[in-house]
Amino acid sequence: MRSLFCFSGFKFVRFQRGFIVLGDFEYKRIRSIDEGCHCLAEAAGKAAVLAGGTDLLVEIRNHLKSPKVLIDCKNVDALKQVHVDRSGSAIGASVPLNRLIENRAFHTTYPALATALLSIGTYQLRSRATLAGNICNASPAADSAPVLLVLDASVEVVGIRGPRSIPIRDFFVGVKKTVLTPDEIVVSIQIPQRADLHTTFLKQQRIRGHDLAVVNMAGAYSPGERILRLAIGSCAPTPVLLEPIKVDVGNVASFAGHVAEIVLSSVSPISDVRASSGYRNAILPVLVKRILHNLLAEGGAS
Ligand SMILES: Cc1cc2nc3c(=O)[nH]c(=O)nc-3n(C[C@H](O)[C@H](O)[C@H](O)COP(=O)(O)OP(=O)(O)OC[C@H]3O[C@@H](n4cnc5c(N)ncnc54)[C@H](O)[C@@H]3O)c2cc1C
Repeated sequence: MRSLFCFSGFKFVRFQRGFIVLGDFEYKRIRSIDEGCHCLAEAAGKAAVLAGGTDLLVEIRNHLKSPKVLIDCKNVDALKQVHVDRSGSAIGASVPLNRLIENRAFHTTYPALATALLSIGTYQLRSRATLAGNICNASPAADSAPVLLVLDASVEVVGIRGPRSIPIRDFFVGVKKTVLTPDEIVVSIQIPQRADLHTTFLKQQRIRGHDLAVVNMAGAYSPGERILRLAIGSCAPTPVLLEPIKVDVGNVASFAGHVAEIVLSSVSPISDVRASSGYRNAILPVLVKRILHNLLAEGGAS
């Protein structure tokens, strides 16, 4: 994708060969979060925040969304920051995924999240796409969501009434729906740092490297507390975080069966273009076993 421009009231995206008509909207490049919130409030639900555009522009092209104003937040300095340290991390909403994946401290601190981000689309796509866009798009298959859920992340948001912090477990309310109000902009994603946690992420997909998840799953295990946290994507209208599970490491095989039962009773997979509900139900216990193997048998993170 090269550039976005306007001709005769229509907006076009210029590709290597030819153009695709996107529709009629106003494009605003904001310089501050405050300016963005006021633009959003003025548009009264008819505007959309543009980050990498890898979800939004596709939806506009496919006539699934038709915002009257696109608010480009990529040039706001406050949204471009990444802080990773022992007390926790803040990932700015405009930071492209590749910047996180290539950040050594991020990779070491959140290996499962780095694995999840690396599984999103292609290198080119990850140069544009953002973590904020991945969660705000609220796809049940969003790869970052299960890891952010088991890590207890929160979403820092600013609207015309001021800032608020939303625990990620309360953020998703349906397919493509979040608790954000029309004037709110996600500023950053805060991720606690827990050195005692072993974490892992698995993704079942049809085409390795270029596909959304048929099922994705993240686990976090605290050996000291013997507590397992699991989150599952692509098997319900929103990513699902299970209640913490007390771990009985005495018998891993029967424990895996017990956890698989909890997982199957907590999700409601449907059949879609990527897989049938039967396949998803069949693969879930397999992923549970692999997650437990990564977390308990080896005791390490991946
Ligand atoms: C070919 C292809 C392959 C893909 N593969 C995967 C995959 O494997 N796994 C996966 O999870 N996803 C995948 N995606 C989806 C997409 O790339 C990701 O969800 C990406 O992280 C979206 O980020 P973005 O910055 O491009 O968001 P955008 O498209 O800019 O925005 C997405 C949504 O979030 C809103 N938004 C963005 N930023 C903010 C903000 N700061 N505040 C409030 N709202 C905001 C936008 O208004 C929009 O509704 C794929 C997409 C394509 C086109």
